[in-house]
Amino acid sequence: MKLEADLHVHTIASGHAFSTITEIARAAKRKGIKAIAVLDHGPALPGGAHEYYFSNLVALPDFIDGVRIIKGVEANIIGKNGELDISDFTLELLEFVGVSFHPVCGYEPTTRIENTEVLLKAIENTNVKMVCHPSVPGFDVDLKVIVEKCKEKGVLIEVNNFSFNENSFRYPSLEENLKLLEICAEKGAMIALNSDAHFHELVGEVGTAVSYIKKMNFPEELIINRSYKLVNSFIYSYFEGGENKD
Ligand SMILES: [Zn+2]
Ligand SMILES: [Zn+2]
Repeated sequence: MKLEADLHVHTIASGHAFSTITEIARAAKRKGIKAIAVLDHGPALPGGAHEYYFSNLVALPDFIDGVRIIKGVEANIIGKNGELDISDFTLELLEFVGVSFHPVCGYEPTTRIENTEVLLKAIENTNVKMVCHPSVPGFDVDLKVIVEKCKEKGVLIEVNNFSFNENSFRYPSLEENLKLLEICAEKGAMIALNSDAHFHELVGEVGTAVSYIKKMNFPEELIINRSYKLVNSFIYSYFEGGENKD
């Protein structure tokens, strides 16, 4: 299976990633990927970009080397009411907003019930369009409840290749990763299968996750970024400021 879009990559603006947007776009082009969503970390993560960085993404062209650049953020949940580290004013300027739990960003995990409530509140923000890596070690949530809410609100669930890497600090467990896929398949929830690349050569690399997706016969029609066209119409459906960039 080949992806036409990677909806989660990081540039040097994230503070701990190593490539520029142009390098990532060129690598994507070489691999036949038609679109990348630049989701640099919000300001609450140490080294994350300033809010001005995100509001100035409009300075970028829509295409670099023929690759569509989707402007977004990986916003951090910073409080018990699901508050994010970027203002709604700026979020509304962006084409694609992902939301994540990360340690040391302001919200420290407690119980599964409370973590789930907090994530649900974050999803209530209508600017949010994807929950990034819903299974984060330490931030236990009720995946069923989260997937149901995402489906109801038209929010994508991310299946993050980095979370499938057992050497990664973000590896929850194979069981937890498979559980997420099973729930999405069962509920018919749309997912985005992403690299979360922090280096340009890794853009579009989702092989580990794909091996499990194949093994369990996960329905391919639920993977939005297998098709650039699907991604484009998803974004066009809510981003009024933009034209349909085919
Ligand atoms: Zn993340
Ligand atoms: Zn990320």
